[in-house]
Amino acid sequence: MNIEYDLCVIGGGINGTGIARDAAGRGLSVLLVEADDLAGGTSSMSTKLIHGGLRYLEYGQFRLVREALKERETLLGLAPHLIRPVEFVLPHDPQARPYWMIRAGLFLYDHLAPRKKIVRSRSLDLSLAEAGWPLEAHEATKKGFAYFDCWADDARLVILNAVDAATRGATILTRTACARITPQEDRYELDLRTPDGRTMRTSASAVINATGPWVQDVLENAGLPASDDADRPKIRLVKGSHLIVKKIYDGPQAYILQQPDRRIVFAIPYEKDYTLIGTTEEDYSGDPREARISEEETAYLIRAVNSAFTHKIDKQDALWSYSGVRPLFDDGEASATLATRDYRLYEHQHPRPMISVFGGKLTTYRVLAERAVTRILDMQGREIAPWTADSPLPGGRIPDGDIDAFIWQKEKDYPFLPPDMLERYAHAYGTRMDLFLEGAARLNDLGTHFGDQVYEAEILYLLRCEWAQTAEDILWRRSKLGLHVTDQTAQRLEQAVPRLMEALAA
Ligand SMILES: Cc1cc2nc3c(=O)[nH]c(=O)nc-3n(C[C@H](O)[C@H](O)[C@H](O)COP(=O)(O)OP(=O)(O)OC[C@H]3O[C@@H](n4cnc5c(N)ncnc54)[C@H](O)[C@@H]3O)c2cc1C
Repeated sequence: MNIEYDLCVIGGGINGTGIARDAAGRGLSVLLVEADDLAGGTSSMSTKLIHGGLRYLEYGQFRLVREALKERETLLGLAPHLIRPVEFVLPHDPQARPYWMIRAGLFLYDHLAPRKKIVRSRSLDLSLAEAGWPLEAHEATKKGFAYFDCWADDARLVILNAVDAATRGATILTRTACARITPQEDRYELDLRTPDGRTMRTSASAVINATGPWVQDVLENAGLPASDDADRPKIRLVKGSHLIVKKIYDGPQAYILQQPDRRIVFAIPYEKDYTLIGTTEEDYSGDPREARISEEETAYLIRAVNSAFTHKIDKQDALWSYSGVRPLFDDGEASATLATRDYRLYEHQHPRPMISVFGGKLTTYRVLAERAVTRILDMQGREIAPWTADSPLPGGRIPDGDIDAFIWQKEKDYPFLPPDMLERYAHAYGTRMDLFLEGAARLNDLGTHFGDQVYEAEILYLLRCEWAQTAEDILWRRSKLGLHVTDQTAQRLEQAVPRLMEALAA
């Protein structure tokens, strides 16, 4: 019997890469296949909050909020370079929710899970507090609240999980789709489609389908026995869109704006020079890769901003927008806003273990992965202790999690780096920045300069160690340089990437 892998994970979003990392660290031989680029699906399209989800308390989702708050603290410790606390300012709107309700919600939010690094919420007088300055007079005279949640570069969180999985022995194949899953008595046979249209066959003792909004499509198209879908849960696709505009206020704080329809819209400082505004929520059908912001969503987000801030925007101010599709577990709730953000691990009735992931949040990926891998091992009658709760993600082994002290140290190690560039490297790569900077004594040592502080050394690292294959992978998922660089720099990179890839393959 020659079974090639212990576990095949389908899908390279946050859940798939988190599962691959967890399983590889427990000693399983793991294959992860991703049809597109890592984080090419929902996991690069989120609001990027590592949060409990204050508003889910209103819907009584205490279990989910408690778990997510606990994860917020855990993840902050595992990747202090990538994940940072952000203060959220919530102007009080008595029309939307009574004061006591928000105060009670924040009290719960402070106490539902143990908290060491995140400070507790407080009340604000927005007519006095600096956070009131950017607000319209009718907002700025209000009482308000401030509380902390965390923010992360979602796509890079995916990459870090994949990097660690590979370091622990997992095989990661991007641009490779799982086309067929054939359950046998002792294994699964899997047909994989490569970018050049070839089909490869491999086998695994267990399978986890972590394809987010595609979970149902994969099951329907995989040629599984008809008996398979008898009690399978359903997925509900809900589109959410964001706008990026030049920054509309100064300061590190984010705002959480209550809307007349009881929804909320965030305004979050983004990539230093920008404000990220989102999100909308509407039911969606169709290919998740084709999701785009609609005129109505744009108008909704602009209205939300203009009714709160003195700085007004219109649709010409939108420099970029992105839309993602939430793969929500369908709990039969009528409204998309009320549908649960919780997840289900569905166990298929096959001779060998197979799980499909329905729903979830970026914030809860680690604990979801831990549960999924533990369940697969249980089904095989095996027990291997989980390990990811206190093992830093790549680049995250930063003393005391003190990113400022780390940056200060790196300024001494690489005094030739402009401060902006060093800060970007430190947040994106953490201690791994040494992998492509070590030995460099001046900027010229970093190879070709493509423009706008993009140097060959970083690009080679991304191609060699982070599965980037195109300029788009680099500009929009491994980083958000796409927002900062000129067209010329982007073009130079587009031309250089195939040449660098060839050189690396030679
Ligand atoms: C607008 C929006 C805002 C959000 N904001 C937040 C937030 O602030 N905080 C939070 O915690 N959560 C947030 N979420 C939720 C979170 O983003 C998702 O729950 C999470 O990213 C889902 O990850 P996933 O790995 O399940 O799916 P995905 O990231 O979509 O990954 C699935 C992958 O499977 C691949 N795939 C599909 N078919 C195949 C195949 N046949 N073979 C191989 N691979 C395949 C796809 O290419 C894709 O990369 C938000 C979601 C949205 C849409």
